[in-house]
Amino acid sequence: MVYLIGAGPGDPELLTLKAVRALGEADVVLVDDLVGRDVLCFAPRARLIEVGKRGGCKSTPQQFIERLMVRYARQGCVVARLKGGDPFVFGRGGEEMLALRAAGINYQVVPGVTAGLGIPAAMDVPVTHRGLAHGVTFVSGHLRDGAQPDWSALARSGTTLVVYMGLARVRPIVAALLAGGMSPDTPAAAVESGTLREEKRVVAALARLPEGVERAGIASPALLVIGKVVGLAREAAAKAAHRVAA
Ligand code: SAH
Repeated sequence: MVYLIGAGPGDPELLTLKAVRALGEADVVLVDDLVGRDVLCFAPRARLIEVGKRGGCKSTPQQFIERLMVRYARQGCVVARLKGGDPFVFGRGGEEMLALRAAGINYQVVPGVTAGLGIPAAMDVPVTHRGLAHGVTFVSGHLRDGAQPDWSALARSGTTLVVYMGLARVRPIVAALLAGGMSPDTPAAAVESGTLREEKRVVAALARLPEGVERAGIASPALLVIGKVVGLAREAAAKAAHRVAA
């Protein structure tokens, strides 16, 4: 049996009860480096295998992870594949599910709170607030083969934009949104290690976001949240938070 588990954005209290139960049953946990280590206390019996694959760092090839899951499951182990956020949001969880299906392994998907919902909510940002946003769009700033999302279409969409893996490209992304007609005054935020103790965030007008990110020293993993709803963000309470004058 393999559980494909979403661990939420970081704060261990954002784990689901189902995730806690599955971790308690696990003999082996395959864990991504995005997952906060505090959640591992819910897997007291398990052997821990780190299969981190953060962009730009040394990573475990995807196929190797898939083979490990299959191998342990065939040995009769209960395997917990623990991924940050939700397993199916930019997490390659779909590929892992297909590999398990192809191998005829029993699996269950345990949804998690994706960073793009958990982090804005934790900063008091209602991503689809009526009158301010028609919806919310999750997009990756870093596509395979250097392809780009259609930033000018997104700029006109009237939806809150949540950009995963966009920090390294914050300057070109902001430039493309401005070129697409988004107002330079649109409230925007960059959040590093959201919901964790070490969270760092910057809230700024869109046009000043890249500068704010640099000044605050925001590093990966970070999420960009762009749209009028970000104007409702709580004046950052944490001392680590930064605000750049608009
Ligand atoms: N499956 C995950 C996303 C994996 S992609 C989810 O549903 O949340 C990895 C990207 O997610 C990071 O580059 C970053 O953009 C974002 N991310 C995940 N957790 C984060 C956190 N605690 N703080 C900031 N960004 C986070």
